Amino acid sequence: MTTAEILEEIAQQVAVCEKCELHFSRKHAVPGAGSPQTEILFIGEGPGFHENEQGLPFVGRSGKFLDELLESCGMDRSTVFITNVVKCRPPGNRDPKPEELTACGRYLDRQIEAINPKVIVTLGRLSMAKFIHNAKISQIHGQPRRVRGRLVVPMYHPAAALRLGSLRPVMKEDFAKLPEWIEQARQAAPQQYETAAPSGTQTSIHEVNAEQIDLFSGNNPAPSNEDAPPLFNPQEDEPDQLSLF
Ligand code: URA
Ligand code: SF4
Repeated sequence: MTTAEILEEIAQQVAVCEKCELHFSRKHAVPGAGSPQTEILFIGEGPGFHENEQGLPFVGRSGKFLDELLESCGMDRSTVFITNVVKCRPPGNRDPKPEELTACGRYLDRQIEAINPKVIVTLGRLSMAKFIHNAKISQIHGQPRRVRGRLVVPMYHPAAALRLGSLRPVMKEDFAKLPEWIEQARQAAPQQYETAAPSGTQTSIHEVNAEQIDLFSGNNPAPSNEDAPPLFNPQEDEPDQLSLF
C-alpha cells in the first residue's frame, strides 16, 4: 500500500471508531490532513468545535494562527501533514483523558509509521508528552531533540498564544527556526531517507516496517554540524518514547 492508501485506511477506521467515549459526541472524526509525502508532521491536541463540524484539523482560530506561523517560515499546510493526539472532539474542548489518549494512540502511531517524517512538531503540552517525559513546555519549547531517530520539536499550542498575546512573538521565533531544524534533520540521516519510496510509488508494509526498525536501531549517524546544538539525548531516546500512551 502507498502511504496515501494507509492514511486513507486509518481515516476510514477513525470515522467509525468506538474505542473511547469521545465517539459519542463527535459529528465528524478528524483523522488529519495534508501531504502523505511530507517530511514534517504536526501533532495538535484534539479537534475543537469547527474541526468537529468540518472533519478537518486546525480550521478555527488556532488554525488561522497556525497558517500564519507556517507562512512566516515559508511553509504551507498543503506540504505538511497535520493531525492530533485524539481524533474526536472532547466535549467542551476539555483535555483528553489518559484512557482516550491510550485508545487513540495506535492511530497516531500508524500515521507516524506510514508518513515516516524526519521532523515531528508537537503543538501543546499533551502532544509533547507523547514523546518527551516530565518536561515543561515553558522550558523546552522550540528546542528540538531526537526521539527514536526523529527530530521532535515541541512548540506551544497556537491556542495558548491566542489566550496569552505575549506568546505570539515567542511562537514566531520558535517557528522561524524550523527550516533550520528540518535541514539539520535531513543532514543527520541522509541514508535513511534516500531509501524511502519516492512520492506516489508503491511501498509495501514490509518495506516501511524494515525502515522503521532500522530507524530505531540506534545506528543512525550523529548530526554532522558541530556548531549545532546537541540533538541527541540518550535519555529521551528510550525505546518506549513512541508508545507513551
Ligand atoms: N486544536 C487542536 O489541538 N487541534 C485542532 O485540530 C484544532 C485545534
Ligand atoms: Fe476512536 Fe480516537 Fe475517536 Fe476515541 S478519539 S473514538 S479512539 S478515533
